[in-house]
Amino acid sequence: MLENFAARVRSLEPEGAYRMLARARALEAEGREIIHLEIGQPDGPTFDHISRAGIRAIEDGQTRYSPAAGLERLREAIAREAGARRGIEVRPSQVVVGPGAKPALFFPTLALIEAGDEVIYPDPGFPTYAAMIAVAGGTPVPVPLREEHDFGVDLELLAERVGSRTRLIILNSPSNPTGGVLARPALEQIAELVIRHGIWVISDEIYARLTYDVEALSIASLPGMAERTIICDGFSKTYAMTGWRLGFGIMPQALAERVELLLTHAVGSTATFTQVAGLAAIDGPQDPVVQVVGEYRRRRDLMVEGLNAIPGVRCRTPQGAFYAFPNIMAFGRDSEWLADYLLEEAGVAVLAGSGFGRAGEGYLRLCFAASQDSIRAALARMSEALARLGPS
Ligand code: PLP
Repeated sequence: MLENFAARVRSLEPEGAYRMLARARALEAEGREIIHLEIGQPDGPTFDHISRAGIRAIEDGQTRYSPAAGLERLREAIAREAGARRGIEVRPSQVVVGPGAKPALFFPTLALIEAGDEVIYPDPGFPTYAAMIAVAGGTPVPVPLREEHDFGVDLELLAERVGSRTRLIILNSPSNPTGGVLARPALEQIAELVIRHGIWVISDEIYARLTYDVEALSIASLPGMAERTIICDGFSKTYAMTGWRLGFGIMPQALAERVELLLTHAVGSTATFTQVAGLAAIDGPQDPVVQVVGEYRRRRDLMVEGLNAIPGVRCRTPQGAFYAFPNIMAFGRDSEWLADYLLEEAGVAVLAGSGFGRAGEGYLRLCFAASQDSIRAALARMSEALARLGPS
């Protein structure tokens, strides 16, 4: 049956998070009580003033099509705010708004990649990267992120993998699933490589506001990089708006115009009232974000300390995003087996690291955007179930 479909979709697979969520829900339907650490989204509701702005927009009749690249006033606000935050000048014509951040990954890739072009991307990494490279007909070139390098990019290996066919490098800092943040010296070396070879960069900065003790620098702010970087960012994680579907890309204007055409024909436009809510998010108070990040930090510390207290588990402290990525190799089982075991035996839903790429094998991803009580309970259950298994 599969052979009836175009090659570009044959290799596509579901995101592990959705598969695990479905399995967890099935167990819940049988009466089991499951702690959810699988899906990567804030546990709290969208901030009140943002929701109200969205509701008011619907009541005011702002329910019609909007321009494909987004409402002009939202593009202006994003250009101003996202530019200032990164210390770069951004014109509204460089901003393309879409339903979530994913279109700002997918459509620039479609706009840039010809069949056979090589695309370098992080492994382990967000599964959409491999999917969009496949759909664009590109050749995927994963670069492993190693625990011993604090999940930063192995710069020597990266330099080796860049060749005459390399067209695009995808960066994600802070990273899903590792929580690693790329420091300035690493970004400077990558920028030097990219400029020397005339390569494009997609810099996925969706977690840029969720950092602990460090700042996530944008590679676009380095000299000569703005004209070859697509910044991907959005509202889902920062403002707890995952279901509203609102994100944006910032890129050179000529590319933005191509991406706008892809949006026109593939999506039409982003929901108008969602964009009005996004405007309220940018223009409104930012202290709810600061408060939430403070709470995430406490949850991170609780989770990392708890994981490291389990014999056989070893976990680095993530500097950003809301994921812990513990090493579970001591149990001698693959990560999918262990994730299934923890779901069945402990009632804790976590993701197998292998769902993020080959180099993710041997790890689990746990989202700590869950209440401290849930994290404590999950740790206790996991500790007991893993003790029954015992490190080998
Ligand atoms: N990039 C990364 C690294 C993510 O983890 C996610 C969501 O999980 C996205 C992009 C997509 O964000 P959105 O839900 O706004 O499309």
